[in-house]
Amino acid sequence: MKTIDDIEVTNQRVLLRADLNAPMKQDTSGVMQITDDGRLKASVTTINNLRDKKAKIIILAHLGRPKGERKPELSLKPIAKRLGELLNTPIQFIENLNDANTLKTVNALQPGEVAMVENIRFEKDETSKDNVERIRLAQILASLADVFVIDGFGVVHREQASVTDVARLLPKAAGRLVQAEQKAFAKVLNNPERPYVVVLGGSKVSDKLGVINNLINKVDKLLIGGGMAFTFLKAQGFEVGDSLLEVDRIDEVKQLMITAKEKNVEIVLPVDVVICAQLDGSALVYIVDAQQIPVGQKGLDIGPKTGEIFANKIKDAKTVVWNGPMGVFEVNAFAAGTKTIAQALADSNAYSVVGGGDSAAAIRLLGLDESKFDHISTGGGASLELLEGKVLPGLAVLEEE
Ligand code: ADP
Ligand code: MG
Repeated sequence: MKTIDDIEVTNQRVLLRADLNAPMKQDTSGVMQITDDGRLKASVTTINNLRDKKAKIIILAHLGRPKGERKPELSLKPIAKRLGELLNTPIQFIENLNDANTLKTVNALQPGEVAMVENIRFEKDETSKDNVERIRLAQILASLADVFVIDGFGVVHREQASVTDVARLLPKAAGRLVQAEQKAFAKVLNNPERPYVVVLGGSKVSDKLGVINNLINKVDKLLIGGGMAFTFLKAQGFEVGDSLLEVDRIDEVKQLMITAKEKNVEIVLPVDVVICAQLDGSALVYIVDAQQIPVGQKGLDIGPKTGEIFANKIKDAKTVVWNGPMGVFEVNAFAAGTKTIAQALADSNAYSVVGGGDSAAAIRLLGLDESKFDHISTGGGASLELLEGKVLPGLAVLEEE
C-alpha cells in the first residue's frame, strides 16, 4: 500500500478524503455544536504531515446522511472552524463544487494551505449505486487536484465517489490514520500474540455474528457482554425476562457454541447482570444471577462478578480486541461494566485494539486515558468489516495499478 511518503505531494494539490463525521447537537440558540471532536483530532497528523511536505490540501468529508440534499444543519462549516483551530490555521471553505470559482480557489492555494469542500454527501452522485453517476462526480473532484489521499478510515468500507471512484482517477496513497488502522487490524487478524482475548458487547448479536464467525478461528477466549449476551444465555436455556433478545438467532448462537467447543475457544458469558424494568434507569436497579432474570426486567449491564471475571481474563491476555459496550453505558446506573472492562484494557500490558463507534465513544465519555490503548479505531462499520475478514473497497483500490 502506497503512503504519503511514496508519492509526490510537494507543491501538489492534494485531495484528502477525511472522516470528520463528528456527532453534533443543536445548542439553545439553534447553532450546531460538535459534541465529540475525536475524529477531527485523529485527522490532524496527516494534515500536518502534508502541510510540512508543502502540499496544497483540499479536504473532502461528509456529515450525516443528507442524501443528496443541501441541509444547513449538516453543513461542514462548524467542522472546518474547529479543525482550523486544531491545525492552528484558517481553512478556506468551498461552498459549492460546481461553482466557477471553485477551481480558482483551489489553484490559488499556497503550499501548506488548507481548503475544505462542503459536505460531499450534498451531492447525490456521491452515494449513488450507479457507477456512471458516481464517476461523473469523481471526475469533477479529480479535476481539482493532482493526487488523492485517503485518510477517512470510517468510509473505506464504502464504494463511493469520494472514496473509491476518485481514487481510480489520480495517483493515490493512504494517509497516516489509514496506515495506523491498517497496521493495528493486520496485527490482531494475522499474527496476534497469545493468549488472545476478544470482548464483544453492544446491542445486537446479529450485528456481530460475522465478527464471531471469523474470530472464532483465531482467538483463545471470547467474552460476551452487552445486549447480545442475552441471546447466548437464552440459547443455553435460561430465561432473560425483557432483556434484548433475538429469537431468530438462537439456533445460530447454539451452533456457534458447538463450533467454539470443537475449536477449543472458551466462550465466557455473564454470571450476574444489572437489571431494571426501565431502560433509562428510572425504576429500581438491582443485581441478579444471570440465570435468574425475573419476568418484566431487562438486563442492562454485566454485574460486578462478571466484570471481575472478564477483567482477569483481560489481565492474562497478550492481545485484546474489544468491540461493543458491556451495558447501556449512556445511563450512569448501567455504565460500571463497560468502565471495568475499559479500565482492564487500559491497565493491561496486552496489545489492545478497540473497534466500534460506541465503544470508542464510551472510552471518552467515561473519562479513560485514551493513550493507554494501543489503538482506538475511528471507524465503526469499517472496523467491524475488517474483523469479519472482509476486503474493504477503499483499501483495495489502493492496491490497484
Ligand atoms: P459499537 O458501536 O461499539 O460497535 P454497538 O453499536 O453494537 O457498539 O452497541 C452500542 C449500544 O449497545 C449502546 O448504545 C448501548 O446502550 C447498547 N447496549 C449495550 N448493552 C445493552 C443491553 N444490555 N441492553 C440494551 N442495549 C445495550
Ligand atoms: Mg454502534
